[in-house]
Amino acid sequence: MTLKDDTYYVQGVLDRDKRIIAKTITLIESSLAQHQKVARRVINHLLPHTGKAVRLGISGVPGAGKSTFIESLGTLLVAKSHRVAVLAVDPSSKRSGGSVLADKTRMEELSVAENAVIRPSPSGGTLGGVARKTRETMLVCEAAGYDVMIVETVGVGQSEITVASMVDFFLLLMIAGAGDELQGIKKGVLEVADAIAVNKADGDNIDRAERAAKQYENALHYLIPTSTIWSPKVMTCSSLAAGNAGIIKIWETVLEHRRRHVESGALHRKRQDQALDWMWSLLEEGLKERFFGNPKIVSRLPQIKRSVKNGETAPTVAADELLFSLDNQEVL
Ligand code: GDP
Repeated sequence: MTLKDDTYYVQGVLDRDKRIIAKTITLIESSLAQHQKVARRVINHLLPHTGKAVRLGISGVPGAGKSTFIESLGTLLVAKSHRVAVLAVDPSSKRSGGSVLADKTRMEELSVAENAVIRPSPSGGTLGGVARKTRETMLVCEAAGYDVMIVETVGVGQSEITVASMVDFFLLLMIAGAGDELQGIKKGVLEVADAIAVNKADGDNIDRAERAAKQYENALHYLIPTSTIWSPKVMTCSSLAAGNAGIIKIWETVLEHRRRHVESGALHRKRQDQALDWMWSLLEEGLKERFFGNPKIVSRLPQIKRSVKNGETAPTVAADELLFSLDNQEVL
C-alpha cells in the first residue's frame, strides 16, 4: 500500500468515501511502524467528529446466533435510515478458513446494504492489540457518519470484558441448554451485561427459552447492583420469527438505556472513564514492549533468569537489577 498524506485519509473519511474508509482501516490494522504513525495522526484529527454513535457490544458462544442476530438487527436499522458498522474482536481469528467474526458471507443482506460496513476481526496479536485496532476502527466509522456500532465477540479469554469496556451497551446472547443455564458464563461477564437475551426462542424451543430467561433473571438478583439508573434486563428473542418482535424489543431497550444514561450524564462519564482506561492499558502495553525490546534487557535476561531459578539471586533483587539497569531515557 502506498502511503498518502494525512489529509487524504481524514478528508476521505469525513466525505464518507467507502474506498478511503477501507484504506484508513487497513492502515490502522497494519503492523508497519510508518503506517501506525500516520494512522495515529489521522485518528487524532478525526476525534472531534467521533462519539455520536450508539455503541453496542454483543457476545455469545459460537452457534449462539450472533451473525444471524446482527444480520436481522442491522437490516432493520438500515431500513430505518441508520448507518451501521459491524466490527469484531476475536484474538483467535485467522483470516484464512473458518468463520471469522463479523463474516460478510454470513450477513448476506447487510453486507450489500449501501449504509452498512462489515469488518472482520483484525487478525493476529494479543487481545489488547486486536482490541486497539477495533477501537480505532470504531472511531473512523463514527467520523464517517455511521451512527450504530455493533462490536461482536466470542467468549475467548477476556474478550467479553474488553468489548464491554469499549461500548455503551453490552448484550449477552445465550441459548437455552440442557443443563444448568449458568454454565458457560464466566465469572465477571454477567456483571458487565446490560442485557441478556435468550436467543432462538422459536418453534418448540419457546418454552425452554422462557425458562432459561427466568433462571438468568434469578441469577441477576444475586448480583450487587453496579448502577442506580440501570438494572440488567433479561429477554428472549429469535432471528427467525416473523416480525422480529424480540429483536425490536432489544433495540428499544438499548435506546431506553441510552436515554437514561444521556439524561443523567452517565454516558458521558462512562466514555470518559473508558478513554482513560484505554490510555492506561496502551501505556502499560507500550512500557512492557519497550522494556523487553531493550537490547540491554534482552542480553541480560537469560542469565538473570537462570540465577533466580537456581536460587542464587532473590527475585526481588533480580527485578530491581533489571528495572534499574536502564535509565529513564532508555525505558521511555
Ligand atoms: P454465531 O456463531 O453465534 O454467529 O451463530 P450463527 O448466527 O452462525 O448461527 C448458528 C446457527 O443457529 C445457524 O445454523 C443459524 O441458522 C441458527 N440460528 C441463528 N439464529 C437462530 C434463531 O433465532 N432461531 C433458530 N431456530 N436458529 C437460529
